[in-house]
Amino acid sequence: MLDSLPRFPLATLPTPLEEVPRLSRELGVRVLMKRDDLTGFALGGNKVRKLEFLVAEALDKHADVLVTGGGIQSNHVRTTAAAARKAGMHAVAVLFSSPGSETNGNLLLDRLLGAELIYAGTDDKIETDRMVQKVTEDLRAQGHHPYLIPVGGSTRLGCVSYIGAVGEVLEQLRARALKPDYFFITTGSCGTHAGILAGVKYYGERIPVYGITVSRAVNECRERITRLVNETASFVGRELALSDSDIIVNGDYLGPGYAQITPEAREAIRRVARLEGILLDPVYTGKTMAGVIDLVGRGIIPRDSTLVFWHTGGQPGLFGFANQVLDH
Ligand SMILES: *Cc1c(COP(=O)(O)O)cnc(C)c1O
Repeated sequence: MLDSLPRFPLATLPTPLEEVPRLSRELGVRVLMKRDDLTGFALGGNKVRKLEFLVAEALDKHADVLVTGGGIQSNHVRTTAAAARKAGMHAVAVLFSSPGSETNGNLLLDRLLGAELIYAGTDDKIETDRMVQKVTEDLRAQGHHPYLIPVGGSTRLGCVSYIGAVGEVLEQLRARALKPDYFFITTGSCGTHAGILAGVKYYGERIPVYGITVSRAVNECRERITRLVNETASFVGRELALSDSDIIVNGDYLGPGYAQITPEAREAIRRVARLEGILLDPVYTGKTMAGVIDLVGRGIIPRDSTLVFWHTGGQPGLFGFANQVLDH
């Protein structure tokens, strides 16, 4: 089933699964990073996997423009804009909020790629999704063939791409005779978390998928993950029975809100950079690493555990939030 789905090749796969020995030694757990920041296309990240399936469906439907939405520094908008170009299409994106003074990072790349940017004038994600819908309808009324990708590309097709990613990492773990105690993932629009959870079920594994939310409230994440896993299960024609305890979402590291850095995330980014030469990002993976460091430090994640930390990318955000990343 998975192999027969249309796929528009964008990502360089498999992405590496790497040991991070100095960080592991300091924390007293074994950490491996699944380097999905290295999917390659247009500076990479997790959205590239999702877009392989989403763009394939758009082409199948003869779309000429991709319509999506996200934050001002959205990695999803950047990669969607690039994928549209590679597929010979245009891209329109609705961005949360209003034009600010920042022009760097993902925003620079969106403009370089020629995406049409519309400001929602609000940070409300539901309202932004509604505007994405409205823009799509308007384009259709004007005779275009738009393909709507919801914020974050979190649809059943987006999740399917992460079932594939789980298959990929399980093979890499098997080759090293490793059995992780946890997958750690950043939970944003929830498609990656739901896809990894669906993948764990799909392959009959029991590895807990531990999500750290950086965007939405825990309850909203739980609802979205449940809905996405169920939709994905019926789409792939498999029963992927979820119990409540399968869904682990921790809201303790969100700080003041989405795309607002915390001192702990800033410290985690600096620590991983200086120990391993690996760059995390300020909006997603920095907060998740801050969570890992804290949970290990407090003994909630036992010493000597083996963790797979999914590095989902986002480094252009370092430039978009340059004034927040360094401690002045
Ligand atoms: C979008 C994003 C995530 C979260 O993925 P979702 O599927 O939206 O939950 C994590 N990390 C980075 C760098 C992202 O851009």
